[in-house]
Amino acid sequence: VDARIERVAVVRDVARVTASIDHIALARDLAGAIENEELFLQYQPKVHVRRQEVTSVEALVRWQHPTRGLVLPGDFIPMAEESRDIVALTLWTIRRSIIDQKALADRGHDLRVFINIAGGLLADPGFVRQVCAIVIESDAKLGFEITETSVIRDPESAIANLKVFADIGVTIAIDDYGAGLSSLAYLKQLPARELKIDKLFITQLTSSNRDPLIVRSTIDLAHALDMEVVAEGVETAAAMALLSVMGCDMIQGFLISRPINIDALMRFLESGGHL
Ligand code: C2E
Ligand code: CA
Ligand code: CA
Ligand code: CA
Repeated sequence: VDARIERVAVVRDVARVTASIDHIALARDLAGAIENEELFLQYQPKVHVRRQEVTSVEALVRWQHPTRGLVLPGDFIPMAEESRDIVALTLWTIRRSIIDQKALADRGHDLRVFINIAGGLLADPGFVRQVCAIVIESDAKLGFEITETSVIRDPESAIANLKVFADIGVTIAIDDYGAGLSSLAYLKQLPARELKIDKLFITQLTSSNRDPLIVRSTIDLAHALDMEVVAEGVETAAAMALLSVMGCDMIQGFLISRPINIDALMRFLESGGHL
């Protein structure tokens, strides 16, 4: 028995060491990934319920790694935040989104593109300055998705910078609402026009007793604060129907579309069969 426990422990330690070597290797690769054009964006449409049309899309970054294949953001965004590669990654994402948005506009699709902004960036003056320069120069219609958790680290700077972004025409959306450290004090102060209810509350919307109550009161609260509400993670027609009755303004999720490449997005928009 002792020998077996010993063996299990050794296997576990090896796994742990392998995992951290793996982490270091991936983090090293990430630095070159932007230059080598290994990153790409997929877009997921948000459908406006009353207008029955796609009014915006969310840009989601992916990494086509030369040997590992497709790596999803959950596996490299946290390490990019640690290494500060997140600054270059996010600036790249913003520039790429602007290029794609122009291509969409050229085909008659006037969509706002939302980009996820990691928490540590909101209090980084260099990042804010560079973003402002890019946004003002391009005149693009952008949105930034931020979480409340990211504001909590340095609320004063974060809120001031979000106001700067809002002033230059960037729509601010509160992401993952209800999943992290929510604070009504921040909700009151943030210059946000959209609130995205986390998919945690949407996935079991039609099978749980509590989720519909939480979702409905969140929608009412957001509306009282003059914000539009997006439900994310909508996978079923039943959830969509209930959200519509509750007055939810926008729907995002696999029911409408998975995140897709820009070409597929064009086809999706032009087929018009999304609702
Ligand atoms: P998020 O901002 O909450 O993005 C939504 C995630 O839910 C995406 O995962 C999306 O593919 C997934 N999703 C969309 N619809 C559904 C659905 O109906 N059901 C389910 N089960 N999932 C759905 P993804 O693309 O893996 O992204 C994960 C997270 O990585 C994002 O969460 C976001 O926080 C982060 N992320 C993605 N791109 C960027 C980026 O460019 N910069 C930063 N800082 N973070 C990013
Ligand atoms: Ca998001
Ligand atoms: Ca989200
Ligand atoms: Ca999330």
